[in-house]
Amino acid sequence: MPRQARCRPNRPSSPGATGARSAPPPQVVTAPPNYIVVHHTAAPNSTDYSQAHAFALSRSIQDHHMDSNGWSDTGQQLTISRGGYIMEGRNRSLEAVRRGEHVVGAHVANHNSEAVGIENDGTYTSEPPTGALWDSLVETVAWLVAQYGVSPANVVGHRALGATECPGDRLYGVLDDLRAAVSAAVAEMGVSDSDLRTTPLPPSPGAPENEPEQEFYHGPALGVRDPNDEEEG
Ligand SMILES: [Zn+2]
Repeated sequence: MPRQARCRPNRPSSPGATGARSAPPPQVVTAPPNYIVVHHTAAPNSTDYSQAHAFALSRSIQDHHMDSNGWSDTGQQLTISRGGYIMEGRNRSLEAVRRGEHVVGAHVANHNSEAVGIENDGTYTSEPPTGALWDSLVETVAWLVAQYGVSPANVVGHRALGATECPGDRLYGVLDDLRAAVSAAVAEMGVSDSDLRTTPLPPSPGAPENEPEQEFYHGPALGVRDPNDEEEG
């Protein structure tokens, strides 16, 4: 693992900073994840780019995941607002990344023990992400690639691993650009391709015909092959 990498996202905010509720200690696996998964939140595309909005979004997602879904905490490890603010989702995710370990979340059914997830604020079926969100996404994914030694080829949309339209056609359509930008960023950090490992992707499950349209729902997040024994659904 390329531990010499010094890149890290621009001061991601911890749950303490965003005003998150307390949550039980997460499940942690010592092996680094194989996939970095890009999601959208399926929330309205807000034009409030403030930090206050970002923190409120973070709290809303946590409330939804804990109160409506019955989960122990926020499902994803990281959240990025349309103003470009980067926030820790599930508790202790950042310290795990820094150790090369992985906090098991609830964002991509049946792959949660091997996939780290980034939820990007908004709905990207027909509108592209903001420039600020994009820049923070590149920075965040480059950091994850360097910390975990995962090839940019394994930076995927949720739909690659689950039956969903997530992260929306517009964001999905620029994932090649994201991989290219991340490759350039990690090369600048001195991480070479030989440091990075590629994991084959399972067959694509395809999109469902009638995906529910509801805020914060963006496809199957928990499955029978996940180890989240404290989760309800
Ligand atoms: Zn998703």
